[in-house]
Amino acid sequence: MKISPRRRARVAAAFARLRQLYPDARCELLHEGPFQLLVATVLSAQTTDRMVNQVTPALFHRFPDAESLARAAPEEVEPLLARLGFFRVKAKNIVALARQLVEHHQGKVPADFKALVALPGVGRKTANVVLGVCFGVPEGVVVDTHVQRLSQRLGWTRETTPDKIERELTALFPPEERDLVSHVLIFHGRRVCSAQRPVCDRCGVRDLCPSAGRAEHIGRKKKRA
Ligand code: SF4
Repeated sequence: MKISPRRRARVAAAFARLRQLYPDARCELLHEGPFQLLVATVLSAQTTDRMVNQVTPALFHRFPDAESLARAAPEEVEPLLARLGFFRVKAKNIVALARQLVEHHQGKVPADFKALVALPGVGRKTANVVLGVCFGVPEGVVVDTHVQRLSQRLGWTRETTPDKIERELTALFPPEERDLVSHVLIFHGRRVCSAQRPVCDRCGVRDLCPSAGRAEHIGRKKKRA
């Protein structure tokens, strides 16, 4: 993918500013170690980190590692996830995931993209979250709803689908920055540049953002018919 030096410089300036604004940007899913982050990320599909953080302390207290979760029946796990949507499916998925880890990886989370996406319920996004946060080696940039919206508003991409946006962001940032790119965008999206009410007047990257003052309809998810 060809990217002009001018564009690279513009993106780098906005990223540097966001890093200054959010020096504490990090993954907000509560976890201790790769196994718990993997499970928390699988649980975060179709819900918020805040909701997941409400259920995982009790879940990880009872099932702190792959071995203990692998021995559980999904029905034992369901009540602990009952506040989440699709909790029965999610309970089944994380038990299957733990069993695979025990069976094929000695109960450890592999630091390998291909091995991760081969696990049940683990897609590119989840694999990159775990590789980035726990091992510092993401294959690509994690594109969630905030990263999708913000990268469009900031003019970092004109693409509109997560896969294509991931490809573009991955070409824009070296491997050692990819993890932080998603965290600063997610922090900014949650605090300032929300989907419905971006607060451009108080935004620290306003001077570097082509959507300033007219962002409401940029990067929003289309409503389902
Ligand atoms: S200027 Fe507005 S649209 Fe641009 S990043 Fe800031 S809040 Fe978002």
